[in-house]
Amino acid sequence: MTSYIAAVFPAPNAPIEFREFLEPTLEPGSALLHTLYSEVCGTDVHLHHGRLSGVPYPIIPGHVSIGVVAKTRGALKTVNGDELKEGDVVTFLDVHETCGACYHCLVANEPTRCPSRKVYGITYSANDGLLGGWSQAIYIKPGVKMIHLPKDLSPETFIGGGCGLVTALHAVDLSRIRLGESVAVLGAGPVGQSAVALASLSGAGEVVAVDGVQERLAFAKLMGATNTISIKVERAQRLDEARSMTRGRGFDVVIEASGNPDAVSEALDIVRDGGRVVVCGHYTDNGSVNIHPHWQINRKHVELRGCWGSRYEHFHRGVEIAARFGNTKPWSTMAGKTYDLMDVASALSAVADRSAVKAVLRVKQM
Ligand SMILES: [Zn+2]
Ligand SMILES: [Zn+2]
Repeated sequence: MTSYIAAVFPAPNAPIEFREFLEPTLEPGSALLHTLYSEVCGTDVHLHHGRLSGVPYPIIPGHVSIGVVAKTRGALKTVNGDELKEGDVVTFLDVHETCGACYHCLVANEPTRCPSRKVYGITYSANDGLLGGWSQAIYIKPGVKMIHLPKDLSPETFIGGGCGLVTALHAVDLSRIRLGESVAVLGAGPVGQSAVALASLSGAGEVVAVDGVQERLAFAKLMGATNTISIKVERAQRLDEARSMTRGRGFDVVIEASGNPDAVSEALDIVRDGGRVVVCGHYTDNGSVNIHPHWQINRKHVELRGCWGSRYEHFHRGVEIAARFGNTKPWSTMAGKTYDLMDVASALSAVADRSAVKAVLRVKQM
């Protein structure tokens, strides 16, 4: 019987283990992918440290992945109506089992808050099978939404953008950027880099990346940043720089993608009166911060939005955007290095110590 190797987080803060899994029996409507690429992002570092609630360790991490369809059971189609066949190169939405029947799904129209929601690589246990991307094979449960990689989209480009591209698209949608508006993006990690790229594609005027790592600021310029601010200087000086870039008014839009609580307060300082702030850097609990409601929100008429997770539409459009703009926005080179699956611990360390913006895993079959 065929078996596959997968990397497993056995428990919070425990070393990565490699475990062998037998090929699953396919239930009707399911498929098996042979993994080509998966990714290592900041969420995986948090998972390794046990910083997300409700995670059923042991898990196979890896939420956004690309694979080749190895087997299907029954006729499967994409939302475009295209048949999914053996040998097709596909990616899939890691979020699954939002029920479409609860209050959050039906009334509030916020399916990311659906209590039935499951995520590959995060909230499925390795005891339930090959349900994460750090593996030679991925079991695609019935109902999981797969999509072909368009022929002009290289796997390296899509996985380079990966989950950060999808999250950034959700955040940029919520920010409602208008042509010519000024945008600041706090944090030039994978989400911030894609937010810079998408803000510039949205027709923003000034797009300013803010980070403490010079290489990240330099890369943000390749993504479309017109200017940068280093957080190595004092906060008062950063505020001065932000004002001087916006005729003293502050930015029309600020997208917080750093995960630092202080950045949320700073976003409220550098947004203009009546501007919009979207917070998407706090997928996990990174602590709290003092906010001054009178000066930072109420008197300023600031619109403040949270953005957690994403929906199928963001994933689907993320694939299309990567295909159309992958030649001008360098997602393919955002991950500095591609790692072998067996070397995933090094990839995780590189992301944890911030020596890499993100890391890509290339998975070989036996
Ligand atoms: Zn629901
Ligand atoms: Zn991620």
